[in-house]
Amino acid sequence: MVNAFQVPKLQLLDACKALSNINILRYLRQLGAGLDTVSIQEVEMGLHAGFSPQDIVYTPNCVSLEEIEEAVALGVRINIDNTSILEQFGQAHPNYPVCIRINPHIMAGLNAKTAVGHIDSKFGISFHQMPLVHRIVKATGLTIEGIHMHTGSGILDAGVFLQGAEILFSIAKDFPDLTYLDFGSGFKVPYRDGDAETDIEDLGEKISERFHAFCQEYGRDITLTFEPGKYLVSEAGYFFTRVNVIKQTTSTVFAGLDSGLNHLIRPMLYDAYHEISNVSRPMGKPRFYTVVGYICETDTFGINRRIPDIQEGDVLAIHNAGAYCYSMASNYNSRFRPAEVMVHNGQAHLIRQREKMEDLMRNQIEVHLPEMVRK
Ligand SMILES: *Cc1c(COP(=O)(O)O)cnc(C)c1O
Repeated sequence: MVNAFQVPKLQLLDACKALSNINILRYLRQLGAGLDTVSIQEVEMGLHAGFSPQDIVYTPNCVSLEEIEEAVALGVRINIDNTSILEQFGQAHPNYPVCIRINPHIMAGLNAKTAVGHIDSKFGISFHQMPLVHRIVKATGLTIEGIHMHTGSGILDAGVFLQGAEILFSIAKDFPDLTYLDFGSGFKVPYRDGDAETDIEDLGEKISERFHAFCQEYGRDITLTFEPGKYLVSEAGYFFTRVNVIKQTTSTVFAGLDSGLNHLIRPMLYDAYHEISNVSRPMGKPRFYTVVGYICETDTFGINRRIPDIQEGDVLAIHNAGAYCYSMASNYNSRFRPAEVMVHNGQAHLIRQREKMEDLMRNQIEVHLPEMVRK
């Protein structure tokens, strides 16, 4: 990505909600990334990982003004996505420059659950509301230091991206104090053979050229910012799980795993496709399986998958698990969350312990009620 965007000032922010283990954050910081955060806890984790406050952008949605105040106290960059908070913030902190998140009203991709830049989305300030924004800025004396958009996953070609970019440019020219323009993310990664992925070189070339023209028009160079999440980490991660049961029914052969939607919710939540391979028997004769989890509700990882002959006890690898796998995991059904292992230069490091019973009990408070008397 660094090579793809040829501009004087580029900043890549790792959207840490995709994969938030502190070791990963530190590694990406060493590579020169900043951090994109969506909660005050992510901000604190980023500071703990050694990011400087100026390299952290906090982009909350529908959080309280109190939480935004905490971000002010920590000195990070703040991205505001509604005019109500913008007005309140401007009155309280007229000297704290902020970024505003714009809703460009474009539909990125076809999945309504992951697109966030369209007209019905709860994110961002509509670009039609710019007169109101300018009135708030004028009335409060607030400085707008950045303009941001994030349209969600599913941007395939540079054309759709540039369409959103044009909207940002047309808004940006009316704010004289900008230091950056943030185009968010939406970069697509392949989940299976033949899947298209964002052509980052092509996008980089087109955006860089257009950004350069904008900076000339604007009168000075500002920073071009992106916030890739899954593009950085999705393909780097695998989720390994054992097969507990092979169950033949009247309609299919189920492979029942020692895992479930508590560990990887994307297939059930977004109809996401994740490749599944049999690492115990890679050369086995392929057969068709419906791969399911152990959670007590419909819990399917993949239907009719052609996988090398699975036997009970085999270990399967679920691909593209670097993004939104562990970070969306829960203890549903009172199950433990698994360990995390980082492989670096061929060496494996345990970077998170598998949970234990005491983890499930930790915050529970046992109260002793008087004995129930049955009438
Ligand atoms: C989630 C998120 C991202 C990252 O999205 P990906 O699809 O994982 O690249 C970037 N910016 C913001 C504001 C986000 O909420």
